[in-house]
Amino acid sequence: MVLQDLGRRLNQAIQSVNGQTTIDEPALDAVLKSVCAALLESDVNVLLVKRCRDRVKQLVLPQLEEMQAKQGQGGDAMQGNKAKQLIHKAIYDELVALVDPGDSAPPAFNPVKGKSQVIMMVGLQGAGKTTTCTKLATHYQRRGLKVALVCADTFRAGAFDQLKQNAVRAKVPFFGSLITLDFLASGNRTLMHNAHMMYSYTETDPVSISLQGVQKFRAERFDVIIVDTSGRHRQESELFDEMVQIQEGIEPDMTVLVLDGAIGQAAQDQARAFKDASNFGAIIVTKLDGHAKGGGAISAVAATNTPIIFIGTGEHLHDLEKFSPQPFISKMLGMGDMQGLVERAQEMALANPERQENMMKKLEKGEFTIRDLKEQLNTVMGMGPLSKLTSMIPGMSDMMGGGNEAEATRRMKRIAFIFDSMTAEELDSDGTIFRDPAPTVSGALTAADKGKAKATPADENQDPTNPLGLREPNKRVLRVARGSGTTVQEVEELLAQHLMFAKMAKRMGGKNGLMGKMAAAR
Ligand code: GDP
Repeated sequence: MVLQDLGRRLNQAIQSVNGQTTIDEPALDAVLKSVCAALLESDVNVLLVKRCRDRVKQLVLPQLEEMQAKQGQGGDAMQGNKAKQLIHKAIYDELVALVDPGDSAPPAFNPVKGKSQVIMMVGLQGAGKTTTCTKLATHYQRRGLKVALVCADTFRAGAFDQLKQNAVRAKVPFFGSLITLDFLASGNRTLMHNAHMMYSYTETDPVSISLQGVQKFRAERFDVIIVDTSGRHRQESELFDEMVQIQEGIEPDMTVLVLDGAIGQAAQDQARAFKDASNFGAIIVTKLDGHAKGGGAISAVAATNTPIIFIGTGEHLHDLEKFSPQPFISKMLGMGDMQGLVERAQEMALANPERQENMMKKLEKGEFTIRDLKEQLNTVMGMGPLSKLTSMIPGMSDMMGGGNEAEATRRMKRIAFIFDSMTAEELDSDGTIFRDPAPTVSGALTAADKGKAKATPADENQDPTNPLGLREPNKRVLRVARGSGTTVQEVEELLAQHLMFAKMAKRMGGKNGLMGKMAAAR
């Protein structure tokens, strides 16, 4: 992810101050020079970069001089560390300010159940508007809201089909017109045969289409109705006129401008042009996964005093991240985003409350089978791409190879293969089944199996990497390793992991355990 590259460079620049013995003005200048170079390369406006540098200097320099004077008089040796912290904090705060639209921004929009709130999406064709509509629908759906989509783009042939395909994939009801102006101009009439499709309508007036869609879904008590509008017209003025007419017709609770992050600081002019034509309340910046100019787009948009509510970080349904300045900068600098992680976990619990409830009940009893471990890992996988999750946990991203999605996914896939090779009896067991003193299949170990199988001491406590105390691989372990195309060591490691969780569950469960006490308190 290119924003991660920017984050890494900024982080390196900020950390470089740690290697300096004297923290003085030249040292500060050197750090700021590297920070500014990284920002400029990400297409952040040169005036914004200059403001950022000047403000850090203005704030830090007098304090540095004061510290140096104290040191000169035999002051505290800790002053050096304090100076470094001061620089880190000042740069961090300025980076946050760079992507913060400020207090004048309207308050965040938070749809709730039972209100039928309408979101109108505007933006130029290709910005990622249709994709974002479905991502947004999925986002609210995961929060337990009833969401529907309306396609008001009657200009572009294929617009309805695109939204329909996405909506079907996301299991979101949709409404739109099969007949577009492009289609009518082509003289082709074959599409008419599809006119019986659910929620479709043979109408070419976008205002009428959007109004009917919104009324229909309001009557059906949908919580969130997302209206996708056209992003292209014969002339720009026609596009803006249509936007205003739809806005006047459906009176949305919020209008969102979708901007392509790849255009860098040019995003500011585009945002202004749209703002002059129709007032929008929030912005979503897309394609921040693949473009070096992402930092430029975000800072340019923030400079228009309009809040960025989400950012698009990929082509898939779940590649939409909530945006707020502080967590964004923290995450970019590898400092994690615990708030984001907790939100994801809550979403998963909402999506499958029964499963989570069952898990809590089992934990209260101190039980934790191998199947429970499998389900928990599935839940983690369902929370989104692993590299995105690990970037939310401070320090975790580096442990997983610096956001190396391929490696993290490869490891998780092998674990899934191991589970798939277990029988139902094994999955529902507490793991001791793999410790039965069943003899190994004599002479059945291949070189690959052996190469990885560890000789283990008799006392399990002597070797923490082998708490199961497996000497020769148990025949079940061997069967699972072969069946899953993994090694004996990988299976043993997974079993050891499970044993560790199971012990923890035992300690937490029961009447006297933490979970038991929590249950009693409820
Ligand atoms: P629209 O014309 O504004 O409705 O744009 P589309 O939704 O059709 O998107 C245009 C292209 O951008 C499609 O190929 C999308 O898959 C792609 N796209 C949209 N959002 C993102 C994103 O956040 N990241 C990446 N990499 N591609 C995106």
